[in-house]
Amino acid sequence: MLANPIPWPDDARCCVSITWDIDAESGLAYRHREGMEQLVATRTQLRYGPRIAIPRLVEVLREREMVQTFFVPGWVIERYPAAIDLLLENGHEIGLHGYLHERMCEISAEEEATALERGLAAYVARVGERPRGWRAPGFTFSKHSADLLIDAGFRYDSSLMGDDMPCVFNGRNGRLIEFPIDWTSDDWPHYMHSRDFGFMMPISAPKRAVEVYEAEFEAAWRYGGHWVTVWHPFLSGRPARLTAILDLVDRIRERGGAWLAPLGAVYDHVEAMIAAGRWTPTEDGLPFHDRPDID
Ligand SMILES: [Zn+2]
Repeated sequence: MLANPIPWPDDARCCVSITWDIDAESGLAYRHREGMEQLVATRTQLRYGPRIAIPRLVEVLREREMVQTFFVPGWVIERYPAAIDLLLENGHEIGLHGYLHERMCEISAEEEATALERGLAAYVARVGERPRGWRAPGFTFSKHSADLLIDAGFRYDSSLMGDDMPCVFNGRNGRLIEFPIDWTSDDWPHYMHSRDFGFMMPISAPKRAVEVYEAEFEAAWRYGGHWVTVWHPFLSGRPARLTAILDLVDRIRERGGAWLAPLGAVYDHVEAMIAAGRWTPTEDGLPFHDRPDID
């Protein structure tokens, strides 16, 4: 079924990377620069992520001896340092997710470069080293993003949707390893309901959300793929939803055959397989066509 499966470590059938985006109020601040201070209830909905859900997640992951990947905007790193420190103390990986959750595809290359620089400065100030991983806020990877990320030293991205397997996305001065995601494994369509965001979904039962996720996992397990989740602590860190996804994680672990790993570890594995000549990634990059998209 999958055209270019990579050999996974220890003869695992597939790989599972559970990743979280800790947006807190960054996206709200980006959309409502003037009015955010009045949106107290929505702010508390979003602050639930770093304040309530992150300590809870750290605890349940410690019980399971698991480390995962958390993408965080620079603005959130500056305002919620305790959550960042707690994740780092417990060995979790932190990737960058913009500065103020900018919509990169709606701003200029210069503005995108500035946002990236501010995000990096906030990250380095707290974490003490540069990030290897990036997820574009709201998946708004722009036509400038690959070059800006490569020039800034990023090694991998997890924002694009063009494959089921790690692959390569080329830029002018190098390449990123890409870990593709899809909306099917994002919790936002199941749970996000906020008048202030203009996003009011009929809220799924946790069982229904997990049904969609588990189908993605099953296909990865059957065919040797890489299942990457995009979950948000303020949405999926609530007790009923977290219980449902922990039950899924426990089922995956009990069944065996899946390598559960943060994206940084998968990146190391992918590079090692390429270097050893054991696997050749599929490549893509801009421009997608050798003539203009519209003549
Ligand atoms: Zn986000």
